[in-house]
Amino acid sequence: MSRFQVRKVAVLGAGVMGAQIAAHLVNVKVPVVLFDLPAKEGPKNGIVTKAVEGLKKLKPSPLGVADDAALIQQANYEEHMALLGECDLVIEAIAERMDWKLDLYKKIAPHVAPHAIVASNTSGLSITKLSEALPEAIKPRFCGIHFFNPPRYMYLVELIATPTTQPQILDDLETFVTSGLGKGVVRAKDTPNFIANRVGIAGMLATMREVEKFGLTYDVVDDLTGKKLGRASSGTFRTADVVGLDTMAHVIKTLQDNLSAETDPFYDSFGTPEVLKTLLEMGHLGQKTKAGFYRKVGRDVLRFELASKDYVPGGQKADDVYGRMLKKPAAERLKLLRESEGPQGQFLWAILRNSFHYAAVHLASIADTARDVDFAMRWGFGMKQGPFELWQEAGWLQVAQWIQEDIAAGKALSKAPLPDWVFKGPVAEAGGVHTPEGSWNPTSGRFEPRRMLPVYQRQHFPETVLGSGGAKFQTAGTTVHEDKTIRVWTLDGDVLIASLKTKMHTISPEVCEGLQLAIETAEKSYQGLVIWSGDEPFSAGADLESTLPAFLAVGVSAIEDAEGFMQQTMLRLRYAGVPVISAIRGLALGGGCELGLYSARRVAAMESYIGLVEVGVGLVPGAGGLAYIARRAAEAQAQSTHKDLLPFLTEGFTAAAMAKVGTSAIESRKIGYLLDSDIIVPNKDELLYVAIQEAKAMFNAGWRAPLKRLFPVAGRSGKATIQGQLVNMRDGGFISQHDFRIASLIANVVTGGDVDAGTLVSEEYLMTLERQAFCELVQHPKTQERILGMLSTGKPVRN
Ligand code: NAD
Repeated sequence: MSRFQVRKVAVLGAGVMGAQIAAHLVNVKVPVVLFDLPAKEGPKNGIVTKAVEGLKKLKPSPLGVADDAALIQQANYEEHMALLGECDLVIEAIAERMDWKLDLYKKIAPHVAPHAIVASNTSGLSITKLSEALPEAIKPRFCGIHFFNPPRYMYLVELIATPTTQPQILDDLETFVTSGLGKGVVRAKDTPNFIANRVGIAGMLATMREVEKFGLTYDVVDDLTGKKLGRASSGTFRTADVVGLDTMAHVIKTLQDNLSAETDPFYDSFGTPEVLKTLLEMGHLGQKTKAGFYRKVGRDVLRFELASKDYVPGGQKADDVYGRMLKKPAAERLKLLRESEGPQGQFLWAILRNSFHYAAVHLASIADTARDVDFAMRWGFGMKQGPFELWQEAGWLQVAQWIQEDIAAGKALSKAPLPDWVFKGPVAEAGGVHTPEGSWNPTSGRFEPRRMLPVYQRQHFPETVLGSGGAKFQTAGTTVHEDKTIRVWTLDGDVLIASLKTKMHTISPEVCEGLQLAIETAEKSYQGLVIWSGDEPFSAGADLESTLPAFLAVGVSAIEDAEGFMQQTMLRLRYAGVPVISAIRGLALGGGCELGLYSARRVAAMESYIGLVEVGVGLVPGAGGLAYIARRAAEAQAQSTHKDLLPFLTEGFTAAAMAKVGTSAIESRKIGYLLDSDIIVPNKDELLYVAIQEAKAMFNAGWRAPLKRLFPVAGRSGKATIQGQLVNMRDGGFISQHDFRIASLIANVVTGGDVDAGTLVSEEYLMTLERQAFCELVQHPKTQERILGMLSTGKPVRN
């Protein structure tokens, strides 16, 4: 088998994108060397060093663990060109100037390895024009690789071929970007701004025009065009502020410079909006200058007003009636909006119509299929649905007719008619562009399936577009047991899968019953059990709401029973006769974290956030989390020559007492919630595949559960030491009296309570202490205040 191996990557340009791309390579364990120009003064690597330092302070963090910035190898074009020869992939991310990029290509060409792929991260320059300056030997290995900012978090990467790019190169790169970097790849044609920015920025400009036309304010527009519309929650103008108005102006300029009324019939609407010009002139660039469309003053968010060139009170919401309309099924929603008389409804219909119109007119020139446009908008602009998906869902021909009527009536942004394929032939007959056969390619005149690269066999449930059919994780495979809270099923007959169905995948007594049944079934007839859900989070923890009625009716004994049952379930997982794998993605909090901790192994997506957060609701981890912390400390000490147990306990204690949550799978490992033997997977969609493989490998290696054994605890002297520190924190005003009470109870459990240091205890003994602490706290008014606060507002109460 021949395989394109990426042993090392060179990133050229340590700016906003280059430095963050390098950081993400470190996150996924790819060695990387980051280049920039030699500094004119001081050490030659000065520019890169500064950029790498900057990575540690950036929010949201581009690094899984901030200190890993040190793993980025620093280089400059004067001293280190030879390093390029070691790299299998070179990603160029220098400033957006054709002449500078071409100059740099000339400089690097003699040093690039003869097999290496060279790719540009340009957002708007022609990849073909860039390739023309390259030596013949590099041309076939050159393409575009367009990341979105911030590259760690944005799922989309657009790959762009030139007429001379070898097809194999693109397949190799797609494989690496998908599996190695964990991204969703869309192939774009070499047109200005490619797919997502072309459709997205045209959409933003169109939105700004309609805002002016309908006389709406930015806060109302953001309320309408955020979550309610199924788009990024920051809406239109706050997104612009976050991206940076200068960056936005730059992308708009690329559209203006590279397109014309001949190449884009919507060109007339690409003029820089007056308000954007004004803000730029005033030096208000958005979040980075603390003023843009919005400005925060104390707790108030003010909005810009063009007429007075000043900021006025903001925070206005849209009319409720539109919120209700936006919740209706697609067909009814669009009809209501179109027929609504108020400016807010008219505005919404107008921006949706514009997006359908623009996407249909440009599909053939910018993308291979309609699926690529929809994925690009979902993955690059945070939309729940792409434009074609919504149009199709609302009724293809009806919506097409409405658009046509608006064009005829001069309401649309351009007179360009919808392409013929919208009304006639396969699309009209199928009622849309997405079918189980594939998605519409207007150039070939066919519905085309997704590219079937071997890497996609690692995705059992890849993301799909509406109308494409395809297996759904909720119903796929063979169901062994299913109730309201859990589905126990198998894909291959070898490994059993347990998928939680509760809201936020919380763990109720019914879920515990289901898990126990799954283990029993797996022990009888399967090689292993994987706990996995097709959507996030992994689990938000114990279901507090479901235990509340029993608590109120029966009292604390109901809680004690529920806790005991959860603890038993955790032990059942740990000592099961088959390996249990937790396949974690997104949040794994409290009981969700414990589910992971009591599994034989964890396979976690890079974007996993794991922690014991019970303190936030005034409780202690009560389903084995603290028993785990005590056991891990004893295990770590057993492997060391150190005689004192306490230092091994401190980190686990602190993590639980401060409700620390890992900001990535890598950081969660540092905190101790993942082990070195656990697997971190870059791509969320490969999680199930890897977990099933892992379960089988463990089974085939003759897996047996660990032997039950007693282990030493730090005892009352250890507890006294921890408590001494807690007293200082309380007296110094760093923690409240109630925090002190909770932390003391945690200290009591993890040190084994009132016993001598070194006393051997069992997991069950520590779990009894956990339950006692939990039940004591649940009756405390301050804890109840925290729980009720969390349940009603979703925010922690500090008391
Ligand atoms: P930036 O301005 O932050 O960084 C550019 C880097 O290029 C700097 O470190 C600078 O030292 C270096 N540089 C400048 N002139 C150079 C030269 N003549 N030779 C070699 N290096 C030089 O830019 P950025 O925002 O990181 O953008 C880099 C590339 O990525 C651009 O092509 C841009 O279009 C693209 N891009 C940007 C974003 C974004 O949101 N910023 C998103 C996707 C793609």
